Amino acid sequence: MNFLDSEKLETILLKNGFEKVDNPEDADVLIVNSCSVRKHAEDRAFGYLNSLKFLKNRGKIFCLYGCTANIYGSQIIEKYPFIDVVCGPNKIRESPKILKEALNGEKIVCVGESDNPFIEDLINVGGKISASISITKGCNNFCSYCVVPFGRGRLMSRSPQSIIDEIKRLVDKGIKEIILLGQNVNEYGKDIGTDFVSLLEKIHQIDGILRIRFLTSHPKDVPEKLILSFRDLPKLCKHFHLPLQSGSDRILKLMNRKYTVSHYLGIVEKVREVCPDITITSDIIVGFPTESEKDFLQTYKIVENVKFDELFVFKYSPRPKTSASKLPDDVGKEEKERRHRLIYNLQQKITEQINKNYIGKIVEVLVEKESYKKKGYFIGKTHNKKTVLFRKEGNVKIGDIVNVEILNSSIHFLSGRICVK
Ligand code: SAM
Ligand code: SF4
Repeated sequence: MNFLDSEKLETILLKNGFEKVDNPEDADVLIVNSCSVRKHAEDRAFGYLNSLKFLKNRGKIFCLYGCTANIYGSQIIEKYPFIDVVCGPNKIRESPKILKEALNGEKIVCVGESDNPFIEDLINVGGKISASISITKGCNNFCSYCVVPFGRGRLMSRSPQSIIDEIKRLVDKGIKEIILLGQNVNEYGKDIGTDFVSLLEKIHQIDGILRIRFLTSHPKDVPEKLILSFRDLPKLCKHFHLPLQSGSDRILKLMNRKYTVSHYLGIVEKVREVCPDITITSDIIVGFPTESEKDFLQTYKIVENVKFDELFVFKYSPRPKTSASKLPDDVGKEEKERRHRLIYNLQQKITEQINKNYIGKIVEVLVEKESYKKKGYFIGKTHNKKTVLFRKEGNVKIGDIVNVEILNSSIHFLSGRICVK
């Protein structure tokens, strides 16, 4: 979502007379688009701006964008007086105006909600075949550890017509795959009297779109209708990112996740029954306040049993304004690292084994780009999000769908050769 915001910001600025330069030394305005989901990300954003502070005496404007801006607002300028502009993710549209004011010497704080945070038609497609589009912004769920409702505000859905119109224009520019983004896409439409599956069905009818992906889903909001879509909508990619967060019901309750482990496992079972070759990926947080060895081992067991294709494992860090930040952060740094390492290593083995099972199979791959590392090779993705590397052959070009026989595998990708029909 942050990458998409950066692309939109870049396009707005280019359309309004700004130019992009390669070196910070050559810029009049320096913008860091920050993420604040974990403390580490926030520290990096401030660290990067700090590392460029020596350029300040050359009259440059320093700007902090993104969720961090919304969370701390004017406190940022009080703490870091070299920063001139603080702009939240819902206010990107106002950038040309506020940057011009800042260039005239004003300090600007532009945060909070907006009536129209969705920016249309601004993506510089630049030869890509896949484009992301935000269908919702914000989140109302208030998981106890999560800063997103404070960084991005409350849930707001974009109108179906505006989404469809943008996708049609993207198709005209050569886009073949659409990735629908939202913090919890399953809540799409709640505020405007529609629902996510109806949107998927409408997008599915658009000619020229070959593949549709979406993320992220919340396990408390997965209707049967969505599960059946993986079977009934052929363009819908067979990949389901469904964050579990913890395998302990006690911790899930403290996290305010509003589902139990058995509810989660029920969804996995149904999805696999309806769509056996689906890829399921997930997020786990280790070291949440009061997480005992027993809680942790429950998570470990679930990871061992479910066999996710891929897993993002995070060490808990307290975030401002969240309710969990009032609990003691009582799992020590080394213990968080140990738990992180154990789950990470377990998952590496599982992913390696799952990927090995592809050897000898023929998979359908959408060709995405040329490999930078391996000359003469293409990189593409299967329907279920496996990355595949294969040698260029015949007239095959970016955007084609080809059959590839898998000859080798690793944790990160599969490799093979194009099958001539
Ligand atoms: N909206 C998605 C959901 O409901 O799962 C994910 C949002 S968040 C941007 C992505 C992931 O970051 C979460 O799934 C969670 O695992 C992790 N995360 C969020 N807050 C965290 C925190 N305070 N400490 C560590 N990890 C965190
Ligand atoms: Fe954060 Fe929970 Fe909303 Fe996801 S659903 S963005 S984890 S509050």
